[in-house]
Amino acid sequence: MNNVPTPTACVGPCNSGWRRAETARLTKGTPHELTARAGQPVWCNPCARHVRIGLADFPELAARLMLEVENATAAGTVHVSGSKGRPIHGRERYTFCIDDIVGVLNYWAEAIRVDRDLAAPPPRSRGAAITADTRLLLIHFDWMIAEHSEPAQSAEFGKDLNRLYRHAAKLTRTDDVRAVPCEGIPCRQCDLMALEHELDWQGRATGYVLCRDCGTLLKEDEYERWVKLAAQPFKKRAAA
Ligand SMILES: [Zn+2]
Ligand SMILES: [Zn+2]
Repeated sequence: MNNVPTPTACVGPCNSGWRRAETARLTKGTPHELTARAGQPVWCNPCARHVRIGLADFPELAARLMLEVENATAAGTVHVSGSKGRPIHGRERYTFCIDDIVGVLNYWAEAIRVDRDLAAPPPRSRGAAITADTRLLLIHFDWMIAEHSEPAQSAEFGKDLNRLYRHAAKLTRTDDVRAVPCEGIPCRQCDLMALEHELDWQGRATGYVLCRDCGTLLKEDEYERWVKLAAQPFKKRAAA
């Protein structure tokens, strides 16, 4: 079998469908013809840019979460003291998410400060910490995501930010923000009609197309090329 060696496959969401197919191949022997997109050397450029877009948004996202904490009340939630299944009321969910943002950004910013011999930051508010750490991470973003001596660190860094962004965006997303489905165009990876033009938590187009099912991510221009390809007979498509 001449499979693309996994160490060079982008660890990002562009390969979600491929990873799923690979798991099925390895565990159940289900064959597939998908090829992985290569990382450069860890993340492909579109996935890396997507991580960066999310990172730049954290100060604004956190400000929004802090507002939600002020507005949230425990009213209407059942508080069963000592019960494991106790629902977390609104305010706690937002507070945990802010804690998570502060913690994750500080963790990676600290890694940079140690590597670059930068002074420890002065005592600061959580809002100020988020703003300063985001700025530091943006300055050293290319190094973290692509030039770090340990590829595992680059992978972890981007995945951490992706997870954090998804969670925060989900908590703050306004209800009327609805992604626009890509009518009639199947996902390049999983073949399902689950592609949509991705919107961020404020309803702004991110410039990416996302598969709701397998999580595959395409830049809009890659998607345009795929639309043309998908319109061709299957044989031609497979040869492309
Ligand atoms: Zn990728
Ligand atoms: Zn898909």
